[in-house]
Amino acid sequence: MSEVLLEVTNLKKYFPIKAGLLNRTVGHVKAVEDISITIKAGETFGLVGESGSGKSTVGRTILRLHDKTDGVVKFKGIDLYKVNKEELRNLRPKMQLIFQDPYSSLNPRVRVGDAIGEAMIDHGLATKENVRDLVLEVMELCGLSAYQIDRFPHEFSGGQRQRIGIARALALNPDLIIADEPVSALDVSIQAQIINLFQKLQKQRGLAYLFISHDLSVVEHLCTRVGVMYLGSMMETAPRDELFNNPLHPYTKALISAIPVPVPKLKRERIVLKGDIPSPSNPPSGCKFHTRCPFAVDICKSQKPEFRHMGNEHYVACHIV
Ligand code: SF4
Repeated sequence: MSEVLLEVTNLKKYFPIKAGLLNRTVGHVKAVEDISITIKAGETFGLVGESGSGKSTVGRTILRLHDKTDGVVKFKGIDLYKVNKEELRNLRPKMQLIFQDPYSSLNPRVRVGDAIGEAMIDHGLATKENVRDLVLEVMELCGLSAYQIDRFPHEFSGGQRQRIGIARALALNPDLIIADEPVSALDVSIQAQIINLFQKLQKQRGLAYLFISHDLSVVEHLCTRVGVMYLGSMMETAPRDELFNNPLHPYTKALISAIPVPVPKLKRERIVLKGDIPSPSNPPSGCKFHTRCPFAVDICKSQKPEFRHMGNEHYVACHIV
């Protein structure tokens, strides 16, 4: 059995709402509530939901880019919130983040070779003498050409910049990559190339991914297990095929019904949700989804549904399932 790499238990992240002359805390944005995720070495866990569901906050709180409000985050059995700064710095190379827009994380005045190599030197994974060779190696792995090593970020297309982002993460030889909407800003044909690259690197290096996306068709293609988030809470988790063939939660059903199908005759019946996702500073009582759920019954307004195991590693939070 594969080693458990990441274990997140009941993670909470609340952001304070400040107001008034004294800048007092008058409420909280409950961005993440009681999220639990386990990722094994070499597997891809997809985290899906509309924008505003808290997916990105989960990724950033796991990596301690935000402080947690509560819960436990363990990487290879080490509690990331109990280690000191030095220990965290030593663990950082093993857990890397890839952004939706890598351009924003690249210094426009730094050549890409230097951008990829600087963290390698910083973490003692390369010396000034051998860094160029190692950078060329990782660039080649990511489909970038050797002649591009001295170019500046603005000289690259969106897909190439994402390859640079992946190369930067990969240069540190990570075990886990948290990829936050890594293909959302790209054209469909470029998306396919980057997804293939993720898969190739996983096979070659045994990487594990937490793949955050609002695009279920991408997640269906890439992930082995999937979690569906709504307004900071997990609604359903299951192995990929189980989730797509047998979705149980009304929110998951609505998301899947919106995936375009290639053959018109196979068209699924579309479930259209009413309204927008409510504010996480004032979430609905009971089941958070009840204000938009076409199947809501009375109990949904007052009682939070438990997250129950339905067999086949399939968990769901819904009163009527
Ligand atoms: Fe809909 Fe009620 Fe299930 Fe929530 S608990 S998803 S409101 S049926």
